[in-house]
Amino acid sequence: MAFKDKVCCICDQHKKFLSRPNAGQKLYCIQCKAKITKEYGQNYWKPCSFGEFFEASSKSMEEK
Ligand SMILES: [Zn+2]
Repeated sequence: MAFKDKVCCICDQHKKFLSRPNAGQKLYCIQCKAKITKEYGQNYWKPCSFGEFFEASSKSMEEK
């Protein structure tokens, strides 16, 4: 369930490792994330606090 949602929002591929770098709904694979970080810099992911990020990542751990 919700399995089909687990695709990268950039390349639309199902990847083994997906993350939500800005604590949002969007999932990014490692490749796209690295690409964005390279192009836009680390600030691209800023709009979430570390606390939010931590919360979101622990939630996504629980989902598994
Ligand atoms: Zn991707």
